[in-house]
Amino acid sequence: MRRVLLYSPPMSKEQSQQLFQEIISHCKEYGFIFPSSEIYDGLSAVYDYGPYGAELKKNIQDYWWRAMVQLHENIVGIDAAIFMHPKTWKASGHVDAFMDPLIDNKDSKKRYRADVLIEDALAKMEEKIEKEVEKGQKKFGDAFDRDKFLATNPNVLRIKEKINAYQERFKKALDENNLAELKQIIVDLEIACEVSGSKNWTDVRQFNLMFSTEVGSVADEASTIYLRPETAQGIFVNFLQVQRTARQKIPFGIAQVGKAFRNEIVARQFIFRTREFEQMEMQFFVRPGTEMEWYEYWKQERMKWHRSLGFSPERLQYFDHIKLAHYANAAVDIQYQFPFGFKEIEGIHSRTDYDLKNHQELSGKKLQYFDPDTNESYIPYVVETSVGLNRTFLAVICNAYRTELLDDGSERVVLSLPPFLAPVQIAVFPLVKKDGLPEKAKEIFSELRWDLRVFYEEKDSIGKRYRRQDAIGTPYCITIDHQTLTDNTVTLRDRDTMKQERISIDRLKTIVADKVDWKKGLQ
Ligand code: ATP
Repeated sequence: MRRVLLYSPPMSKEQSQQLFQEIISHCKEYGFIFPSSEIYDGLSAVYDYGPYGAELKKNIQDYWWRAMVQLHENIVGIDAAIFMHPKTWKASGHVDAFMDPLIDNKDSKKRYRADVLIEDALAKMEEKIEKEVEKGQKKFGDAFDRDKFLATNPNVLRIKEKINAYQERFKKALDENNLAELKQIIVDLEIACEVSGSKNWTDVRQFNLMFSTEVGSVADEASTIYLRPETAQGIFVNFLQVQRTARQKIPFGIAQVGKAFRNEIVARQFIFRTREFEQMEMQFFVRPGTEMEWYEYWKQERMKWHRSLGFSPERLQYFDHIKLAHYANAAVDIQYQFPFGFKEIEGIHSRTDYDLKNHQELSGKKLQYFDPDTNESYIPYVVETSVGLNRTFLAVICNAYRTELLDDGSERVVLSLPPFLAPVQIAVFPLVKKDGLPEKAKEIFSELRWDLRVFYEEKDSIGKRYRRQDAIGTPYCITIDHQTLTDNTVTLRDRDTMKQERISIDRLKTIVADKVDWKKGLQ
């Protein structure tokens, strides 16, 4: 059967936006993600995961846990509380330095992150280079040499020079925390508000991203606590207890999955940037001086993991930070190409001994490790891998979503999820609701569900039932028909190829279990 994708690259900006809107609607319609408290008209940038979304999110989380904890004898997991002693956030630097620069448009009253406005404006200038390339391609046809064009075309060189100059100013302003210069760059780039269209800006101000609340009944300074803005600190303050109780030797890692909260100035792009989200973090403790080797190691390993989710190499890229976080001496993002562009899904940071040293100082408790190999005590250095569970979820959905035009003129929407992540791995259908077929199908369903995520349905035509499973990403469906009752075989239908084959029920579990095995992703 011929299949044509309705959205194929290269896509225009409008097409990408339309595709993204379709993905958001699809998530709602098929029970993946709902806007929070929708009966009260929702709460901006807050979302709930429905039956299939909760399942998919859990499967991604389990897959990460298996890859990090189960497959590494020197990585162990913990589950620390969200609330921590307030001094934790003083020591970690978050009270003083976890800020974003914000700016308001005086006419629309809309609030922006100053750094994001500048980044977006520079990205638009990069797009101009691509436009020049397109023009060149048209002009020179087959003889077009992209590299030569980029290196010699006067228009391209002029734009590049302008971008470089702005980037240098931008980096310097961020490094020096120079808010006046950030505002000046916005003015010089002639950035206008997308709502009012005006360039009437306030000054740039710093904004702390931590949510605070009071614990207990008396509100004084001592009772102010924070919702953790990262899960990492729960790992640092427990580091020595974990090392001792798990009998680990350096180098070793501690992994954790949990909620984090940031009062983002602008939460947007569906679940990409929300104020409540989940992180899957692993802090790897190493001997000082070896951190860059481990940083490189984890950079590669984590990219392999993302590829194992079925993302094609051209949709993933590394992006070196322009400004390092207050705790890092090296940092790189792994970015995925969403319909709205390449954006970070994971950060890999070399955090030095910044956190442990500060916790040792502020708590007055030694956080040193005695190294039996070198007979010395030291505060370890840390390499962190921190991936957003919700952003990975969004990347998995965007990667899997497609609309196909079939030979008969109909359209089908399919989520080509990796089988080991799919909320339902196999759906069981009796062809008709009579002649003993439902009984036989239920028997098979009851048997399979001990090992697989199975769904049973007997309502509607087989075609409709297939389409519904395609839309939630179920990789396999089996149909029980009259022949089943005589020769104990069923038809097994593959979601992606839509091909059907007849197989014996005795072999069913082994065949499907092999196809959906999570190990396939990582081996
Ligand atoms: P960004 O630059 O996008 O704000 P970040 O560099 O501050 O992200 P990190 O502190 O490195 O992010 O956090 C690690 C991971 O946590 C990110 O790669 C991302 O996947 C996830 N994350 C961070 N902030 C959010 C958020 N507001 N909503 C959803 N996920 C987030």
